[in-house]
Amino acid sequence: MARQILVVEDEALIADAIAARLRSEGHEVRIAADGPSGVAYAERFEPDLVILDLMLPGLDGLEVCRQIQRERHVPVLMLTARDDETDLVIGLAVGADDYLTKPFSMRELVARVQALLRRLDALTGRTLPKSIQLDDDIDIDLDARRVRQRGEVVHLTPTEFDLLVGLAERPGRVLTRERLLVDVWGYRDGSGARTVDSHVRALRRKLGDGVVRTVHGVGYALGEGTDEAGATADPAPNADGAEAADAP
Ligand code: CA
Repeated sequence: MARQILVVEDEALIADAIAARLRSEGHEVRIAADGPSGVAYAERFEPDLVILDLMLPGLDGLEVCRQIQRERHVPVLMLTARDDETDLVIGLAVGADDYLTKPFSMRELVARVQALLRRLDALTGRTLPKSIQLDDDIDIDLDARRVRQRGEVVHLTPTEFDLLVGLAERPGRVLTRERLLVDVWGYRDGSGARTVDSHVRALRRKLGDGVVRTVHGVGYALGEGTDEAGATADPAPNADGAEAADAP
């Protein structure tokens, strides 16, 4: 369900990566790059959710949080640069609903956003999916971040989990490595393409070779599908000279 999300973050790379990921989830996203415009946008656009960086020019995140909560309650996910900063902010009880310490994966962010929206939905009776079922009797529990295959828990690293969900959310669509890097890792360039390959190999080792399909020269997909790709990104996964993919 499309929601209005306001991102208040002065680091453009992070703000853009967050916005791209949330837009790919179907949300409408606006970015404010400093505290005062964060407050102004929150008033003008009445977002369903605010993602708010703590350290901002103009007004810091604490003050922005106070001001935007003054008129009405809106869920706030606060971003902090360090764990001890997070502890401090929680101690101040500023009215944020959740916290995320940088660096975080885009999947982690989306999980938090979905949890907050779900909480909001509980008030209005709307619901979001809590799990995804795949072929090969694989069940992904999005809340618990747990994967079961034929009833048995399969232990995945957080990154493997994020990658699996990134693919599973768009079954049948071919996603380029670059796209996956942006979605799962939050990277803006394709320099880490081999990272994707090695995590795909790990997923196949744990869940079976057939789980992730290689589309040569393009990228990866889950399930049957056409090549009408999530390949909105450039189909150039071989920029680093790697093999077309790790053919099984
Ligand atoms: Ca900042």
